[in-house]
Amino acid sequence: MILKKVVVGPLAANCYIVGSESSKEGMIIDPGAEAEVILSQVKDLGLAIKFIVLTHGHIDHIGALKEVKEATGAEVAIHTDEAKSLQGQSSSTLFGLAYPTPLPPDRLLQDGDSLDIGDVHFLVLHTPGHSPGGICLSGEGVVFSGDTLFNCGIGRTDLPGGNSSQLMNSIHTKLMVLPDNTAVYPGHGPETTIGAERSGNPFLNG
Ligand SMILES: [Zn+2]
Ligand SMILES: [Zn+2]
Repeated sequence: MILKKVVVGPLAANCYIVGSESSKEGMIIDPGAEAEVILSQVKDLGLAIKFIVLTHGHIDHIGALKEVKEATGAEVAIHTDEAKSLQGQSSSTLFGLAYPTPLPPDRLLQDGDSLDIGDVHFLVLHTPGHSPGGICLSGEGVVFSGDTLFNCGIGRTDLPGGNSSQLMNSIHTKLMVLPDNTAVYPGHGPETTIGAERSGNPFLNG
């Protein structure tokens, strides 16, 4: 599996480019900003992007969506409960950043859906709590955890649609059931493993 992290935007969101070594198909997870940087990495990796998957709809994860979609022609996929974040909002700013032009999703995801790029297979885990339609993607010994689980942290739940008991439930029932050696690639900050978070994350062991 090809895996490349690009840190983008003023909130330092992690955008991941994932691909199949054999088929050279790929997906982009969370094109938050800096479309040109993401697209030049895609070009260097020689990938044909099949999906743009959004772990959730916050501005720091979708800011470059339109440009990346236009450049790649890839399908935009987001959880059903999060799709309205792509429709523009009345008070269209978050973290002081303006929401981009609305862009309707091509594919609405549900818990348990699979996303296949060549011989690379991922499963959609619905993990509400940070936002209603937040997802994680699990497969190939890794999990992309969005803003649900971080290295020694968890997602904030004070934004609209956030819910702390839902977040804890999502982490415990969807992520902590994964093997300890599963690599965790979060939406912000450094990578970790499920085992390291199980034993060392202060928010899970309080
Ligand atoms: Zn977020
Ligand atoms: Zn974020």
